[in-house]
Amino acid sequence: MKQVYLDTFGCQMNVADTDRMELILFHSGYQRTLEKEDADLILVNTCSIREKAEQKTFSLFGGLKPLKRANPDLILGLTGCLGQQDGKKLLQRMPYLDFVMGPDQVEGIAQAVDRVRTTGKSFVWTGFDQEKAYSIPEISGDLPQTPGASAFVNIIKGCDKFCTFCIVPFTRGREKSREPEELIAEISHLVSRGAKEIILLGQNVNSYGKRGLKKAMPFHELLYCIAEIPGVERLRFTTSHPNDFTRETIRAYRDLDVLQNHLHLPVQSGNDSVLNTMRRDHTIAEYLELLTELKSEVPDIALSTDIIVGFPGETDAAFEDTLTIMEKVGYSSSYMFAYSPRPGTPANDLPDSVPEEVKKQRLQKTIAMQSQISQQQGQVYIGEKVAVLIEGRSSKPGYAFKGRNPQYWNVNIQGSDLKTGDTVTVEIEQVSGHSLNGKALL
Ligand code: SF4
Repeated sequence: MKQVYLDTFGCQMNVADTDRMELILFHSGYQRTLEKEDADLILVNTCSIREKAEQKTFSLFGGLKPLKRANPDLILGLTGCLGQQDGKKLLQRMPYLDFVMGPDQVEGIAQAVDRVRTTGKSFVWTGFDQEKAYSIPEISGDLPQTPGASAFVNIIKGCDKFCTFCIVPFTRGREKSREPEELIAEISHLVSRGAKEIILLGQNVNSYGKRGLKKAMPFHELLYCIAEIPGVERLRFTTSHPNDFTRETIRAYRDLDVLQNHLHLPVQSGNDSVLNTMRRDHTIAEYLELLTELKSEVPDIALSTDIIVGFPGETDAAFEDTLTIMEKVGYSSSYMFAYSPRPGTPANDLPDSVPEEVKKQRLQKTIAMQSQISQQQGQVYIGEKVAVLIEGRSSKPGYAFKGRNPQYWNVNIQGSDLKTGDTVTVEIEQVSGHSLNGKALL
């Protein structure tokens, strides 16, 4: 998956606009990263209400210039009120910017990125659409003409789970799956144009096929069908809910060579009482039982997760349970967040019982724990030879390309005569964070 780094200045409206851009970009194959250096796309959603915010924006972009110089494929976009106010002047002041957009173009973010990719030219896109309703749009869009080595296919929209912290069921509606014939046609199209890896997307992909199809089809059957399509070299999916993750899907990991040995399975908390308040509808024992069965079939599978700390009612002891499960499972990476109430969600009505300072401390502890686990796991790869699908140029000095191994670790690669879309064997020499660095063996 490509990486987007998002930064926001200003008010809650800007924060909400950044969230929407993240959602739209997610459906276009971008996953949020907290590291500018790992990004393929950097967006700064700006504010123009005070000079200080403007100055901060200019200083931030000054710091991004060397990244752009090191990696000309990196796309830099400025969105929000400063873009609306100063438009062309910003491109004159910062010619390394790829585009400037106003706040009314949030829904067009994926098209803006495509336009830069296709034309290679910078542009300004501002103005106001008087007709447009303020809503989260349906994500559809045309199929890309030249997909990346790794391409994303949305198989299901919406969610029926109603976790109490989550706005998705309210903004994206109930689950609806796409017909398998349509998916197979889309995937065949993507691989015929150069895609090697397909990542199936949805809020809860494991629930695929229960609703909205002419004839119900369970998720694992879809995996078997896609694995048959000539040209699909790698297959992944995200995101899953533990309650919909079936034994048959575990068997698919065992049976299908193309299904890569990585699973993102959000746990959110390591404590049963917190899980109950979150309405996750499973216990930690059930979650662990599922992983034990999965690991017995696929011993080298890597696991990643989502974690929320500071949820209403999370005591010190409950938080410790989260650290315990992180250690017990040994996640290769985690998306970790401090809880903040979202208007419109059931949890918004619960007392936000954990002080902000405590949330921050807990978040820091989870980040430290994850970084320790990732570091330990990365060491295991040193001296190993791993198969890497090259996804593009690396921004890491001294490394020409980057890609992923089957377990979804970032791999920075030294070597010549390589190209995007190749799968190469890389001998790993170093680990830094969730990245492995090594040289291609030809
Ligand atoms: S967290 Fe995931 S499973 Fe729960 S309601 Fe949101 S999208 Fe659905």
